[in-house]
Amino acid sequence: MNTKPLRRLLACDLDGTMFPAAPDPTHAEALAAFIALRAADTGLAVAYVTGRHLVSAVEAMAYWSLPKPDLLSCDVGTAVYLSDMTASSGWRRDEDYAVHMHEAMGGVTAHDIETLLDGVPNLVLQEADRQSEFKTSYTLPRDTSGAAAVTEVRRRLSTTGAGFSIVHSTGVYEDDDLLDILPPGVTKASAVAYMSVCATVASTFTLFAGDSRNDLDPLLASDGGIVVANARPALLDALRSAPESVYLAKQPHLYGVVEGTLYFSAKSRQSRTLKGDG
Ligand SMILES: [Mg+2]
Repeated sequence: MNTKPLRRLLACDLDGTMFPAAPDPTHAEALAAFIALRAADTGLAVAYVTGRHLVSAVEAMAYWSLPKPDLLSCDVGTAVYLSDMTASSGWRRDEDYAVHMHEAMGGVTAHDIETLLDGVPNLVLQEADRQSEFKTSYTLPRDTSGAAAVTEVRRRLSTTGAGFSIVHSTGVYEDDDLLDILPPGVTKASAVAYMSVCATVASTFTLFAGDSRNDLDPLLASDGGIVVANARPALLDALRSAPESVYLAKQPHLYGVVEGTLYFSAKSRQSRTLKGDG
C-alpha cells in the first residue's frame, strides 16, 4: 500500500474564478469550504495565477479574504513570486523565472513592442501600472473593429520574426476586450508548468481552475482542468471538444474550484485503487 502523499499543485485564476465580479453572499461559505479542503489535504500546494500585477493581486486577495497561496503568478504568466515575509508585500520575484522571460523576449523590449504597435486603429494602450517588463497590454473594442486591430497586431508582430504570444480575452469588469502581448511561447501555462516543478512544490499532478479565454492553455496543459460554471462563453466555445482531463464544474467561482478539486481527488483515488496501490 502506497501511503506516501502525492504532492499536487492546484493553480487557480483569480478574477471570476476565486471570487466573483461583485460581492456575493455565498463567497464566505465557499471560502470556508476551500480553506477546509486545503487543511484536509496536506499534499496540496496552492498557487494563484492572474493577469493582475503584484500590488493589485495582493489587494484582491485581501479584499476577498483569500488564504495566502504557496506561490503566486502575476501579469498573465510572465512573473512568478515566492513567499517572503521580509518583503512589504509578502512576496519576492522569482529571479530564475525572470531570466527565462528575458531569454524568451530575445532582445526585444516591451518598449519596442509599444513602438511597433503604435497607431494600430482602435488599439489603446492600458495605464502604466498595467504594463510590465515582459507584458504589453491594450484594450480594444469587442466588435469587428477590434478583430481588425488583432489582425493588424499579428501582422506587425510577425515582422519581428519571433512568435510573440497574443492573448485576446474578455475582462470581468471592462466593456472592451483585453489584448496582452507576451514573450514568444509564454502564457499562463508557462508559469503553471514552472511552478509545478519548483523547489517548494515538486508536483506530480497539476490542476488548473479558470473562467476565461486566457485560461485555455493552462486548462488544457494541466493534468486536470477545472472550468467554473460561470465561465465566459468564449472559453466554453473553445472547449467544445474538451479532452477528458477538463472538468466542467456545476457550481460557479470558488465553489466550482472546490467541486473540481474533489472530483479529481476522487478520480485519482479510484485509479490508484484499480492499480492495486491505493
Ligand atoms: Mg478570470
